[in-house]
Amino acid sequence: MKMMKAAVFEGIENIVVKDVPVPVCEDDGILVKVEACGICGGDVRNYHNGLKDGIRSQIMGHEICGVVVEAGSKVTRFIAGDVVSTAPDVSCGQCFYCKRGLVNLCMSHKMLGTHWPGGFAQYVYLPAVVLNRGFVEPVPEGMSFEHAAFAEKASAVIACQELNNVNLGDTVVIIGDGPVGCLHVEIAKARGASNIIVVGLDKLEFVEQFKPDYIFSNSDPQKVMDEVMKITNGIGADIVICAVPTIRPQQQALEMTRKRGKMIIYGGVPKNNKMTSLDSNLIHYNEISVIGAFSYPATGIEKALKFIHEGRISVDKYITKRVTLDGVVEGIKAIEKGEALNVMVKPNTYVGVESKCMK
Ligand SMILES: [Zn+2]
Ligand SMILES: [Zn+2]
Repeated sequence: MKMMKAAVFEGIENIVVKDVPVPVCEDDGILVKVEACGICGGDVRNYHNGLKDGIRSQIMGHEICGVVVEAGSKVTRFIAGDVVSTAPDVSCGQCFYCKRGLVNLCMSHKMLGTHWPGGFAQYVYLPAVVLNRGFVEPVPEGMSFEHAAFAEKASAVIACQELNNVNLGDTVVIIGDGPVGCLHVEIAKARGASNIIVVGLDKLEFVEQFKPDYIFSNSDPQKVMDEVMKITNGIGADIVICAVPTIRPQQQALEMTRKRGKMIIYGGVPKNNKMTSLDSNLIHYNEISVIGAFSYPATGIEKALKFIHEGRISVDKYITKRVTLDGVVEGIKAIEKGEALNVMVKPNTYVGVESKCMK
């Protein structure tokens, strides 16, 4: 039996690197050699809270790019040697939402890296259901493994701005200075927004390199409010996106939104602190839409790969740390401490932990 190294999630805050068998490739799946796998905010959450459905002894990681080393005889989309990129969601194809094309809202959705072994391993096996109902996309010629592995992070941001029609001339406020906030800056720019304002706390020096029009520290919320009003001549922003995993700035976001504007809740908050309180009269009298944004449609990864290939997303600025399988936990901690914007796991590299400084 051929063996490989994998970082296995054995239980809460317990990831163990061990030798496990290389998965067997059935005739309707593909076996992929993992070249890069990003650590997702979801992986960080799962490390502390556990995987969905109490699943343990599982290989996490879903932002994968790798090379097909074996394709089953019934697989027509891919052959050995193809480079592929993945995302986690696998929809059922049959529920109310799937039938309406809304795969991100599938009622019995499953995830690569939770329900099937993921990419924190030298090889990942993508079975037929993942190939057919999930996201496995060919990577454009000449794109690097790391750039392709970054596509999943960008997909949801692209989908959010598409769905909410961030448009030419818009004033967009982004609350959040993590990688997602930075992605919102780049996508809003690509879509032609005029004033892009980032409000953040501890990673503002990261944001600078993405050149939004304004950057404000939320250590003084009243000042942020005054500045946004000044920039918009007292009108407020067309769209305010809350891209932080906390309810704290949601009321502030509402207050910055113009009449008939949109306040978007992007990103989940901790289950034990999820109740928000918003000024109902602002929503009513100002006819503000408060909107949720989650995941992406079936075209998500394909579109993100295209955008990255066209140079609209400067992926290299996000990847500030690379680790081997032994460094998965270190990578998770670096993200939590705000020391790294995006961490790439390189399961087939054995050069120890390599990291770049934050800037
Ligand atoms: Zn992810
Ligand atoms: Zn479904």
